[in-house]
Amino acid sequence: MNHREFFFRHIAQTSPEPMLGNPLHIVRAEKEFLWDAEGKKYVDLISGIAVSSVGHCHPKVVEAVKEHASRFMHLMVYGEMIQSPQNLLAEALMKVLPPSLNNFYYTTGGSEAIEVALKIARKFTGRKKILAFKNSYHGSTWAALSLSSLEHHLNAFAPLLPGIIRTEFGSMDAIGLVDEDVACVVTEPIQAESGVNIPSKEFMEALRNRCEEKGVLLIFDEIQTGFGRTGKMFAFEHFGVVPDILCLAKAMGGGVPVGVCISSGEIMASLCKNPILGHMNTFGGNALACTAAKATLEAILQEKLHERAKEIQKIIQAVFESQLKDTCFKWRVIGAFGALELKDEAHAFELCRQALMEGIITDWFLFNSKSIRIAPPLNIDFNVLKDALEKLCNLSVKLSNK
Ligand code: PMP
Repeated sequence: MNHREFFFRHIAQTSPEPMLGNPLHIVRAEKEFLWDAEGKKYVDLISGIAVSSVGHCHPKVVEAVKEHASRFMHLMVYGEMIQSPQNLLAEALMKVLPPSLNNFYYTTGGSEAIEVALKIARKFTGRKKILAFKNSYHGSTWAALSLSSLEHHLNAFAPLLPGIIRTEFGSMDAIGLVDEDVACVVTEPIQAESGVNIPSKEFMEALRNRCEEKGVLLIFDEIQTGFGRTGKMFAFEHFGVVPDILCLAKAMGGGVPVGVCISSGEIMASLCKNPILGHMNTFGGNALACTAAKATLEAILQEKLHERAKEIQKIIQAVFESQLKDTCFKWRVIGAFGALELKDEAHAFELCRQALMEGIITDWFLFNSKSIRIAPPLNIDFNVLKDALEKLCNLSVKLSNK
């Protein structure tokens, strides 16, 4: 079979040119490396969009999944049977979370965790309005998409969820919009897809206080920033602010699909009455997924990968400072999460294309296509990282001189 031809003909396409028209056909992956069908090796600088934080095929995750797969996989739909992998994962997560976040609804991914959070917030508060921030991405299911500011998506799929207020992230003016009609505020503590947008501590504290004052639930989407990516286990720790509801996915499963919506028992009880079965799913809490997630969290803690992300930040900053000092490029970086802002979109696309030819995988951001993404596995070898970043810098300077 010609896999490329088959892919374009039979695998549903969502863009005319996936990976700039040259989608890789990867047959093996290990730690920060991927190999294509011709044996060419690539350095992964984006971790499959913040998923492979423990690297590809982490041996502990692989071992745990293999061991569990032979005992049982799927038993019953969500919530009807006691499954020890769900309990063990919740217990492990509680050790790294604030005490108020102690009740777990497992999902199949990030968008679903957001759907659950929105349903709980509406139900718990009895209010209809939802406040979200421009240039945040919360997922592609209908309600999650309704929070987005992707104009062409919103227009194409209208009518969307009513009652959404979209406002400027990080602006103190936004705080006043949080009133008694609002059920919840949904935000990423650090906006990912706008190109690593870090708000002030003052803004986050004001948002938290205002939500408290007005009885509004604060929902943090840490689907991209969670599990050590920003140099803390969770990005909210940078601001000393705890949400009422926390959504996680992506890096959580070490490559296996899993997500979770976390809150207090009191808030989560909204799913259990008037009506019962407030959110149903078949695969949420799947035993294999929970087993993988527990092994992933253990690997992060044992290898102190959230700490290592801080070392990665230093390397990214040092390379950019030395290699790009005579350029007008800007960059933002927190932990192992960086954005390098180039001249324009065409420059960013060409850089990604040429980097791929040199065996380096990177891409741009959904709401910021002139910036390229740096989000390597947290256990990437430091020399490999330095080398890849230097190559990226050389390429970007060469391209800007053209
Ligand atoms: N929130 C954020 C911040 C994300 O980055 C994403 C995925 N890119 C989602 C939600 C949606 O997650 P999923 O694709 O797993 O549904």
